Amino acid sequence: MAYEETLALIKPDAVKAGHTGKIIEAVIAAPFTICAIKKTMLNRAMAERFYAVHREKPFFDDLVQFMSSGPIYAMVLGGESALLRWRELMGATNFEEAAEGTLRKRFATSLGRNAVHGSDSLENACTEIAIFFSRQEVLPCDIPS
Ligand code: UDP
Repeated sequence: MAYEETLALIKPDAVKAGHTGKIIEAVIAAPFTICAIKKTMLNRAMAERFYAVHREKPFFDDLVQFMSSGPIYAMVLGGESALLRWRELMGATNFEEAAEGTLRKRFATSLGRNAVHGSDSLENACTEIAIFFSRQEVLPCDIPS
């Protein structure tokens, strides 16, 4: 096992529905170290850049519109195997296929409005973290919380 950092987002649907506290509770209970956290909002151009890999997909416009529709929380989560563990806690992209107890099973309301995001590779985690945080804003993992 190796220490990793991944980017997690609480998407606009979950923030609007008041699920932020329950999602952060699950993050802490997992446990992950929250190395950085901020409430922010993506504009259209930022959402397009964030999801550039999906530019050619039929759902791209809807996704960009949705992700820029309201406040989100961005977090850097650190811990042993943090990337895979966060994706497991999120559950499958399609909430109907997500395992019981996962965040998407609990809080998603459609395939697109699926409550949370997590990086899918360590390389993408680096790129995505840099979209939201400067290096100075990400606290080293060995400082106790
Ligand atoms: N999405 C969608 N329709 C689809 C597939 C994906 O609206 O058919 C949205 C959904 O919000 C998903 C995001 O696009 O979380 C990114 O898709 P990806 O395949 O990267 O899934 P993820 O890594 O978020 O599980």
